[in-house]
Amino acid sequence: MQNALVWFRNDLRIHDHEPLSKAVNTSNKVLGIYCFDPRDYVLLPAGFPKTGSLRAKFIIACVAALKNKLQELGSDLLVYVGKPEDIIPQLCIELAINEVYYHREVAPEEMHVEDELENRIFKHKVKFSGIWGHTLFNLDDLPFPVKRIPELFTDYRKSIERESTVRACIVAPQSISPITPIPITQLPCLQQLGLTEITVDNRAVLDFKGGEDEGLARIEEYFWSKNLLNNYKETRNEMLGANYSTKCSAWLAMGCLSPRKIYEEVKRYENTHTKNDSTYWLIFELMWRDYFRFIMLKHGSVMFNVGGIQNLNVKWKNNLDLFECWRVGKTGFPLIDANMQELLLTGFMSNRGRQIVASFLTKNLGLNWQLGARWFQSQLIDYDVYSNYGNWNYAAGIGNDARGFRYFNSIKQAAQYDSNGDYVRYWLPGLAKISGVRVHQPYALKSSELLDIDFELSRDYWQPIVDLEKSVKENERIFNAAFKNK
Ligand SMILES: Cc1cc2nc3c(=O)[nH]c(=O)nc-3n(C[C@H](O)[C@H](O)[C@H](O)COP(=O)(O)OP(=O)(O)OC[C@H]3O[C@@H](n4cnc5c(N)ncnc54)[C@H](O)[C@@H]3O)c2cc1C
Repeated sequence: MQNALVWFRNDLRIHDHEPLSKAVNTSNKVLGIYCFDPRDYVLLPAGFPKTGSLRAKFIIACVAALKNKLQELGSDLLVYVGKPEDIIPQLCIELAINEVYYHREVAPEEMHVEDELENRIFKHKVKFSGIWGHTLFNLDDLPFPVKRIPELFTDYRKSIERESTVRACIVAPQSISPITPIPITQLPCLQQLGLTEITVDNRAVLDFKGGEDEGLARIEEYFWSKNLLNNYKETRNEMLGANYSTKCSAWLAMGCLSPRKIYEEVKRYENTHTKNDSTYWLIFELMWRDYFRFIMLKHGSVMFNVGGIQNLNVKWKNNLDLFECWRVGKTGFPLIDANMQELLLTGFMSNRGRQIVASFLTKNLGLNWQLGARWFQSQLIDYDVYSNYGNWNYAAGIGNDARGFRYFNSIKQAAQYDSNGDYVRYWLPGLAKISGVRVHQPYALKSSELLDIDFELSRDYWQPIVDLEKSVKENERIFNAAFKNK
C-alpha cells in the first residue's frame, strides 16, 4: 500500500501537473496539501504586508478552486495555516505517507523551505520527490548547463528557438483515491492571515477570479470567442481595458495555468486561424518569463541584493516620504499616479505602466529599487518572485542584461501610449475635465484653462514632487559614478 501527498505551492491546477500525475500513477491513495505560510504574510519594515489583501484574496480563491477540483476527482486538498516543514512531517506520520511529490522552486526562501522539509521527513523514511515544472521549456531541455545560461535574453532565446522543443502537456488524472479518513481542514479568511478585508475597485481591467477554470476561461475568451490574440503584438503596450493583453499572468503566477497549456493553445490557433507576429510574440513573452526563473537559478540570492546581479554600488536614496508619494500615486505626474492608483486599488498594472513607474522610482526619484519591488510584491495579484525581481533588476539597471542608464520619460511615454489622456482621466477623476493630452501636465496649464477643474480632487497636481529633467540628470550622474567605480 502506497500513500502519497502532493504538496501544492504556486501550481494550483490539475492539468499539466507532473507531481500529481506521478503520485496518482505510482501510489494507491493520494491527498493534496497547501500551507498558507505565515512567513509570506509578515509586515515588512516599510509598513505594508509581504502579501497584501488583494493578492491574498486571489490566492485563497485559487486554493478553494483546487480543493473543489480534487474533491470532484474523489480526493481532497488539506489546507493549513503554518510552515510546511512543521505541518507536513507530522501529517506524514499520521497518514502513513510513503512519498511527497512537489514542484521545485529555485528562489532562496522557497528552496530553504524545501531543504528543511526534506531533512525532517527523511527521518521518517518518506521519499521527497521534487519535479521541475512552471516553465515552458524544461530545465533538462536547455541547450546549455545552468552556469552557462546566456546573460543576454536575445542570445538565450535564439539558442532555445534553434535547439529546444516544448514538451507536451501532462494529462490530468480522471479520478483519485484518497487516503481515509480525510482530515477536515478549512480555508483561512483574510483576518486569519493578519490582513484586512478589501474590495477590488470596479474599474479593474478584469474581474480576476482565482482558479484553473477561470484561467482556462480567459484563454477561451482571449484566443477564441473574442479572437484578440490576432492583434496581440499591436495592442500589448496599451494600458486601458481587458483586451490589450492576455491578462493570464495572475493565473500563471499561481500555477492555475501552465505555460505549456498556453503554448498548445497558441499552436492550435496557428493551425486553425492564423500564424502571425502576434502568435509568435506571446510565446516570446512566455520565454521572458522562463528566462527570469533560469537566471535566478544561475545567480541565486544576489538578485535580491541592493546591488543586484551586477553588484553595483549605486547610492540610492531611502527617502520614505518620496516613496509614499509614489506608492499611493501622489507624485504630481498623472501618468505615474494613474498607474499607481490602479495597482493600489486593483492589484494589477499593465506591462507598459510597470516599466514607466519603475523607471520613475529609480531614475527620477533615485529611490532604492527594493522599495518598489517590495510594494509590487505586496500588491500585484500576479506577483511572481522571478519575474518581479528579474524585471526590477532590469529596470534599475543592475540586472544581468543591464544596458547602462536607460530612462523612460513619463511625459513622452504619455504622449505615445496615452495620447488622448483617456487612461489618466479614467484613474484620476479630479482631472476628468481636462481634455486631450493636456491632462498629462496639469501643472503647466494657464489660469484661464483651470476654470472647469475640481481643485479639491486634483490638488496633488500643481506641484510635482521632482523636476523631471533635473532629477534624471542627477541620478544619471550617481548611476554612472557607481558604474565607473565597479
Ligand atoms: C517592474 C516590473 C515588475 C514585474 N513584475 C511581475 C510579476 O511579479 N509577475 C509577472 O507575472 N510579471 C511581472 N512583470 C512582467 C509583466 O509586466 C507582466 O507579466 C504582464 O504585464 C502581465 O500582463 P499579461 O498577462 O496581460 O501579459 P501579456 O502581455 O499577455 O503576456 C503574456 C505572459 O507573458 C509573461 N510576460 C509578459 N511580459 C513579461 C515580462 N516582462 N517578464 C516576465 N514575464 C512576462 C507573463 O507571464 C504574461 O502573463 C513585471 C514587469 C515589470 C516591468
